[in-house]
Amino acid sequence: MSFTLAIVGRPNVGKSTLFNRLVGKKLALVDDQPGVTRDLREGEARLADLKFTVIDTAGLEDATDDSLEGRMRRLTERAVGMADICLFMIDARAGVTPVDMIFAEILRKRSAHVILAANKGEGSAADAGVIDAWSLGLGEPIRLSAEHGEGLNDLYTHLMPIA
Ligand code: GDP
Ligand code: MG
Repeated sequence: MSFTLAIVGRPNVGKSTLFNRLVGKKLALVDDQPGVTRDLREGEARLADLKFTVIDTAGLEDATDDSLEGRMRRLTERAVGMADICLFMIDARAGVTPVDMIFAEILRKRSAHVILAANKGEGSAADAGVIDAWSLGLGEPIRLSAEHGEGLNDLYTHLMPIA
């Protein structure tokens, strides 16, 4: 069975890096394509024997603090509405931020499956942030390094029973 995974989280945590790794090629930046929405990007992902659709959320990058929360809510609702599973990503090096807590609150209210990922997880600088991620109330965090390709086994283990 095929499914759709949406990657959500605040800017700069590594969502697009994971998207590119799962899709296996660098897609052209949607910025370069006039008239194409920059907010959501869709690709066909592959992880071992799993094939699924993955959605990358952007569109928060140039929001100011004033406009960020409303945009986050709308964009997250849209992505979650399209998805069977939601991967909520935080930056383990930065730890849990107030913006992460708002995302977690939005996601806890949704019935969709949520997988929590603590990215930038390579090295000991991430240890405290991975522990901190438990405080979001979304269960056990997967320790990932999207850039180095670490933790994909754990991601697979979490996706497989849902898929
Ligand atoms: P997005 O805004 O959430 O889509 O984040 P990006 O994928 O654009 O990544 C933001 C920055 O974090 C980039 O400089 C990436 O190279 C870096 N990054 C992404 N994943 C990792 C990781 O696993 N470890 C480290 N150290 N940096 C990462
Ligand atoms: Mg991005």
